[in-house]
Amino acid sequence: MKLRVGVLGGTGMVGQNYIKLLVNHPWFEVNYVAASPSSAGKSYEKAVSGRWQMSTDIPENVKEIVVKTLDDIELAKEKCDFVFSALGGKLAKEYEEKYAEIGIPVISNASAHRWTSDVPMLIPEINHDHINMIPHQQKNRGWKKGFIAVKPNCSLQSYLTPLFALHEKFKIKQIILTTLQAVSGAGHPGVPSLDIYDNIVPYIGGEEEKTEEEPMKILGKFVDGKIINEKGIDISAHCNRVPVIDGHMACVSVKFENKPEREEILKIWDEFKSLPQELDLPFAPKKPIMYIDEPNRPQTRKDRDKDKGMAIVVGRLRECNVFDYRYVGLSHNTVRGAAGGGILNAELLYKKGFLN
Ligand code: NAP
Repeated sequence: MKLRVGVLGGTGMVGQNYIKLLVNHPWFEVNYVAASPSSAGKSYEKAVSGRWQMSTDIPENVKEIVVKTLDDIELAKEKCDFVFSALGGKLAKEYEEKYAEIGIPVISNASAHRWTSDVPMLIPEINHDHINMIPHQQKNRGWKKGFIAVKPNCSLQSYLTPLFALHEKFKIKQIILTTLQAVSGAGHPGVPSLDIYDNIVPYIGGEEEKTEEEPMKILGKFVDGKIINEKGIDISAHCNRVPVIDGHMACVSVKFENKPEREEILKIWDEFKSLPQELDLPFAPKKPIMYIDEPNRPQTRKDRDKDKGMAIVVGRLRECNVFDYRYVGLSHNTVRGAAGGGILNAELLYKKGFLN
């Protein structure tokens, strides 16, 4: 029997990606969708009519699901073993707690709980052990079955895993990075076409702070029921909105405490695997860090879909005139950086017994 899944905010950009990506999932099946009062009461097909953004058709098993409001929470409890939350900030803060409190595990894409101290912020290849925070969270709040686990901001995925792979051995000290972020990162309808067509916008509200701060919790150590944030890495980020549909790119310069050889970096990236690969989770990329040794790669359109859109594609590793090395990283923002990353979190939690 598959676990029955709800998607809160299932009609938006991230929600639609969940609906698409969960088709034929071996363990999970969409059984419930909640969205705003303007979608509620309509079939899913009607609710997204004229704004379905995916390149595949709406899955048959979801078309006729009647969209509910967030307040239909008792029904959600009846119909869902857990929910994905693709809600915006304020709503997420209020409702994710309500769902968890009533006994529904919540796996969230929103920023609302990323800095809540007892909520793990997961990239399963980096900090899978942070799921051990969940029993402490449940104890703190008197929750029995429900909990909240979140994934980080989509900008981080493109650069942090390659750095994590090197951090333990060579100790990262300083990072300067510039992101080139897709318009789908702003949801739908998102950035007005007249603002982004033939243009680059050098500002995305709150994004540079998230890009600089969230790695400290993710790289933190789980000790005695607490996550102790990483200290001693300085990050300076420039985040830009560029006219591509999907795929966030990051141009990264990095300084280490112990500078590695270029060949050492390439070997570590090539061999890097973590728990999701060992457990053979359905959404885990076979090779989480995929290096392309061509001078003009990665490229957004050509490389964002590598390994179901879940691989981090890296290239142009070279010496830096100011720091030690520089490289370019790319990840699919609505897959690895949003719904695919959320599904991978759920798979890890399922395998570790938190969802059943
Ligand atoms: P979006 O396209 O604007 O979708 C927002 C969703 O929230 C829609 O389903 C919308 O329903 C629903 N909603 C709005 N008001 C509501 C209400 N009063 N009650 C219930 N549902 C309501 O946004 P998005 O890009 O999917 O982002 C969703 C979340 O994921 C945000 O927290 C965002 O920061 C985060 N995130 C996004 C990305 C990305 O690449 N886009 C990546 C990582 C994280 P209606 O359709 O009925 O209006």
